[in-house]
Amino acid sequence: MENVMSNQHFFKNILDVTPFACLLMADTLEIKYMNPVMSEFFSMDSGRDMTGEAFLKHIPEEDQTAFLTFINQLGESQPTQNWQLFSILDSEGSEKIILFNGIHNLRNCGDEGVYFLAGMPIVDNHLGNILTKNLEEKLQNRFSQSKYESIFESATIGITILDRRGRIEDTNKTFSAQVCLGKEEIIGNHYSKIFYHETTQKLNTLMAHLRNKDKYLTKDVLTITLPDQSHSILEISIAKITDVEGHAGKFMVITEDITDQEDTHTALLQSEKLALTGRLAASLAHEINNPLQTSLGCLGLVEEMLEEDDEDLRIYIEMAMEELQRSARIVKKLRDLNRKTEPSEKSTVNLQEILQGVLVLTKNRLSDRSIVPIFPYQGQTPNILGSQDQIQQVVLNLVMNAIDALPEGGNIYLDILETENPPGYEIKVRDTGQGIPQDVMKNLFNPFFTTKEEGLGLGLYISKRIIDDHNGKMNVKSEPGKGTVFNVWLPGLANPAEKE
Ligand code: ADP
Repeated sequence: MENVMSNQHFFKNILDVTPFACLLMADTLEIKYMNPVMSEFFSMDSGRDMTGEAFLKHIPEEDQTAFLTFINQLGESQPTQNWQLFSILDSEGSEKIILFNGIHNLRNCGDEGVYFLAGMPIVDNHLGNILTKNLEEKLQNRFSQSKYESIFESATIGITILDRRGRIEDTNKTFSAQVCLGKEEIIGNHYSKIFYHETTQKLNTLMAHLRNKDKYLTKDVLTITLPDQSHSILEISIAKITDVEGHAGKFMVITEDITDQEDTHTALLQSEKLALTGRLAASLAHEINNPLQTSLGCLGLVEEMLEEDDEDLRIYIEMAMEELQRSARIVKKLRDLNRKTEPSEKSTVNLQEILQGVLVLTKNRLSDRSIVPIFPYQGQTPNILGSQDQIQQVVLNLVMNAIDALPEGGNIYLDILETENPPGYEIKVRDTGQGIPQDVMKNLFNPFFTTKEEGLGLGLYISKRIIDDHNGKMNVKSEPGKGTVFNVWLPGLANPAEKE
């Protein structure tokens, strides 16, 4: 020991008084020197010297590999932040805990090939407890922090934290997707920069409500405009976040995208509204029909009673009767609105015959307008189960609409396609007319919607109802300026699809 430390009195003096347990070891891990704190840690009586002993035998076997890795990673000439806890077996074989750090090669002190270890013995229970407790708390905090971070980030609802002025402090992936902006475009901005004008005003009201009232949560539904000008609907809840003393400092904004739910809701409302309109119109028509028929009957009787020289009167009576008959035809259509096809009315319907029949019915109109119908279908018996009259009414209506769309002439293409999954047939009625503008498209199947001077706006509405009633589907595709195609699908005869 003397020759190791002989010219380093200063160093030795420091080691003698330091509260750390210090140890010098050769590369062979043979103990060269230990200071009084380390001797005490080893429960050495003052007479015994461990110099020359192999330090490794004081490390429990299961920890030896970890200890070797630890000393191999020690910094050369200067320590790293690599503190590690080790169990040490003292001279009486009791296990004690020490927190070690050290350096390899004390070049500055002129001694190479040695390890200098400084340790903090964790012998005192109190100190041990403090350390373990601190460690546990730290680990617990770290765990709960990372736990909350991952919940925050992976939540399927949008979560945004606002400071008291409304500046966005943090947000999660879901919110960023909901508003179609990157997090870096959101964080740091006031919410008014993220939500556009109308929405911002609603948010201002919600926030003012929270600031002034004793309320902790407010909710609303916002329609927001996305950067691509599309819209989405967010259900938004804003909650005050209070600090430990109960002062409200920040706000948590929870957002849920309910666009799809709203669409379904609106569609449901719309179909209910349509059903109601249909019922109302049908019952009104029923009421109007009786006095109409009576008036027609009376006028017929008056006409019969006219004398030969009552020509002027006859003209007026005929005019009145014509108008009443026109009303009666409209009323009949209205009465049919609510009529469901009885199963007994259904029979095997050959769609090819229906289409050919409609072309015969519309032959004159087609040629008057220089419209050439094209119906190349050569298939085999496209049979469905349905009402012959009603299916014909649908196709006739589609062809009549196509004729109206071709005031300057053109082509109407008819076709029947067989479908396998589900089995059935699709009727196509395509024209090369002016097409259907967006605003008309939205209202196409609504009752009484028409763009024609003489139109009633019931054709497509009734057609759709008939097709629904046959468990079929009807849709339309149109390109303004190029034309329109209506597709009507009906389940095949063998296996009529069940209505969902
Ligand atoms: P109506 O023919 O009495 O107007 P419909 O319900 O049959 O009633 O049609 C509603 C509206 O749909 C029409 O007024 C027209 O604007 C539009 N429409 C239907 N079919 C076509 C078509 N093939 N091309 C262009 N517009 C069409």
